[in-house]
Amino acid sequence: MDRLAIVVPCYNEEEVFPISEPVLRGTIDDLVSKGKVSEDSYVLFVNDGSKDRTWDLIEEAHKEHPKRVFGVKLAGNVGHQFALTAGLLTAKDMCDITVSIDADLQDDVSVIEEMVDKFHEGCDIVYGVRSDRTSDTFFKRTTAQGFYKVMSGMGVKTVYNHADFRLMSRRAVEAFSQYQETNLFLRGIVPLLGYKTDCVYYQRAQRAAGESKYPLSKMLALAFNGISSFSVKPISMILGAGVVMIIIALGVAIYSIVQYCLNHVEPGWTSLMLSIWFIGGMQLIAIGLIGQYIGKVYIEVKHRPRYNIEKVLSDDSEEK
Ligand code: UDP
Ligand code: MG
Repeated sequence: MDRLAIVVPCYNEEEVFPISEPVLRGTIDDLVSKGKVSEDSYVLFVNDGSKDRTWDLIEEAHKEHPKRVFGVKLAGNVGHQFALTAGLLTAKDMCDITVSIDADLQDDVSVIEEMVDKFHEGCDIVYGVRSDRTSDTFFKRTTAQGFYKVMSGMGVKTVYNHADFRLMSRRAVEAFSQYQETNLFLRGIVPLLGYKTDCVYYQRAQRAAGESKYPLSKMLALAFNGISSFSVKPISMILGAGVVMIIIALGVAIYSIVQYCLNHVEPGWTSLMLSIWFIGGMQLIAIGLIGQYIGKVYIEVKHRPRYNIEKVLSDDSEEK
């Protein structure tokens, strides 16, 4: 039977914790009684350096339900992505399935069962996807959707309308742990892992209590981090701009020389016009070229694994 760990990053969530803790615990009890996960499954709360009573509440809950509620206390606030990573890597060696979910219950816990079913059908990664965002404010909705558009425009593979509500098998987390990069953007890395994946759909609810811990500034930082960690396209865009400028320079050259021959110009104008456009274009091309190398260095220093193995067939190996 497979042991399930629900991983929940919490930052200043004292208001919502008393609501979400019993719900998540209940979800596990339910799955256990249906025989879908093992009796020793648990919820792992990661306290991301909260300044309020969140950790005390986690400790109390652990005392009351020592077999169901586990906790990890990070030494300081490191942000949602790292807190979640800490939780996944802690859970990795003591479970077979992880499900990550936010503490605020905006994601529908009832689809966790569907996720587990898909795991049993052979999926290693199951994405929770919002089927609509009517519960979000207009602002959050448009900015978030713009974000997915820009990401895909930049060539970053992400799952549309999927946040960090997902199931990952133990070996998927194992593969993920090989990605050692510091600028971590989970939503970009998970699709790189490969393995059999699937989606489940749900309606996103309002926050159960408390306020969003993701103000616009953090969202913009997440977006920029996502793009700059996965794409060197902006560098190619500079190179492209340089080429465009040289083409314009050719047009300007023809125009200025014609004007010069027709004697329509002040002395010095022609040479100025020619130099400005050519030098500008050449400079952009030069920066773009250097950028290409820096982009390569950047990709190399990440030391990403080049592949993940799903199965090996050989004469003496058990099926892995
Ligand atoms: N969170 C975290 N560290 C932070 C900010 C947020 O662990 O620095 C957690 C937070 O407790 C919640 C999840 O990340 O469980 C998502 O945050 P929130 O619901 O505020 O974001 P939103 O849904 O508004 O985008
Ligand atoms: Mg939320």
